[in-house]
Amino acid sequence: MSDYPYEITPTEGERLTEVIKDWSLAHGLTVRPPPAIVPAEADPAGILATAVPVTLFPSPFPRICFDQAIAVQGAYNELYASISQDDTFLAHIVKEIGDSDDFITELWKVHLRVKEEGYVQHKSLGLFRSDYMVHQDITGSPPQIKQVEFNTIAASFGGLSSQTSLLHKYLSLTEYLLLENRTQSGSLQLPRNESAAGLAAGIRHAFIEYGLPSTPYQKCVIFLVQGGERNIFDQRHLEYELQALQEPQIPVFRLPFSETLQHTALAENPGRQLLYRPPQSPSHTFEVAVVYMRCGYGPSDYPDQSAWEARYHLERSAAIKCPTVLTQVAGTKKVQQVLATPETPSNPSVLPRYLSRDSTSIFDLMKTFTNIYPLDETEAGLRARKIASDPELCKGYVLKPQREGGGNNIYRSSIPPFLKSIPESHWPSYILMELITPPPVKNTILRNGKLEHGGVICELGIYGTCVWDQQSRAILHNEQAGYLLRTKGDQSEEGGVAAGFGCMDSCTLV
Ligand code: ADP
Ligand code: MG
Repeated sequence: MSDYPYEITPTEGERLTEVIKDWSLAHGLTVRPPPAIVPAEADPAGILATAVPVTLFPSPFPRICFDQAIAVQGAYNELYASISQDDTFLAHIVKEIGDSDDFITELWKVHLRVKEEGYVQHKSLGLFRSDYMVHQDITGSPPQIKQVEFNTIAASFGGLSSQTSLLHKYLSLTEYLLLENRTQSGSLQLPRNESAAGLAAGIRHAFIEYGLPSTPYQKCVIFLVQGGERNIFDQRHLEYELQALQEPQIPVFRLPFSETLQHTALAENPGRQLLYRPPQSPSHTFEVAVVYMRCGYGPSDYPDQSAWEARYHLERSAAIKCPTVLTQVAGTKKVQQVLATPETPSNPSVLPRYLSRDSTSIFDLMKTFTNIYPLDETEAGLRARKIASDPELCKGYVLKPQREGGGNNIYRSSIPPFLKSIPESHWPSYILMELITPPPVKNTILRNGKLEHGGVICELGIYGTCVWDQQSRAILHNEQAGYLLRTKGDQSEEGGVAAGFGCMDSCTLV
């Protein structure tokens, strides 16, 4: 594989551009066009779609790392299901983050209000994604994966990722065979990737676990979404997977989060069933079995108090939430830091509290952690404050607030001046994480019809689905659900595809 990814001629680049563009549009590997490409006024009816940025070739990824990430997903699902059940621990986390973080403070208030009156739904659905980069240390030992973050809310790209794997598979059977510089040194090892079907299967499980409706109405699933979503086809693929099922038939509706209170109501009985009336068909009512949130993860989704009322309204309803407030808080970077802070005799790991599994799986989880430190006044926190304020040491770190969705982190030399610019009392709401530096890989990215060739950094995400009962603590369903490979130019710090820096990719295992 030494000639991989293949060197291509300009003519071959043009040919691949044509083929990928058409395949992507034909198979829904698409987004709504970014305003820089098609200004809103040029498409007032919103009829256009454009191909998602992708790599021309699947990036080489160490098989041993891929297998490690797949193998540990079941334990991660269980870990986050268990943490979601421990509201004492999560209350402590929220306290540590502190009231300087209004968003987490408001979110926690929603849980406290519902706890006070009593939850009517004890089952929970997690559609998780654990993100990793390959870490290779200088000793020459085999590469390992290190976790970047664990997502418990609105983990995206599962709908597009299986399509990307199919695109690269198609190219490997057609176009790659015709490339001039391709030696016959071996075929690509492309793992199966059924992320869209896998995530849909998780939602289906929760739909069945909800049981029979308690009102005269038929059950449904709601995708709770942001207005003006550009990454809509990613979500549509999941909807179509769910709707294609014969048994049970699942009605699926998209509801903008901002219209929650307008189109849903709670049944007037102690069961608090969530009732949905589709605005296009007001004579129909559905009992909502599952609310799948592709929104609600950041402050911009809560512009006013009525948005928080909407979240409270959903949280107290009988619908199975993906996620609940508890599971959303379990996904904060602060929790990840507490799990990953190096153990000391006075500060043992919390992992054994949350895993029924043997010590091997705890050890396997620990192997995926990189050092993460608090910025509080504990011993570890004080050490981290030194690193974060030092103009040299800070270069190996990233500073993260308790936010999701990309674009919020502070990297390397920007850390010391940033910390100086905020009150010291706010520092504990951040965590300090060692940067993972994956081995260099080359690839070509096709973005908006143009090719960008060069060094890239790959980030692997493994999807997991989990249904559990908060009260009985039983895990009712626990599956690994396919993967995502996101690739960015090695000059870019952030990797979000929707944010415009990264692109979709798939793995060829080496
Ligand atoms: P978000 O919740 O905003 O997605 P992440 O923790 O995933 O936050 O960070 C965003 C991006 O920053 C990641 O996708 C990755 O490209 C980069 N990044 C984050 N943490 C690290 C790290 N420890 N080492 C290297 N890159 C990182
Ligand atoms: Mg991320």
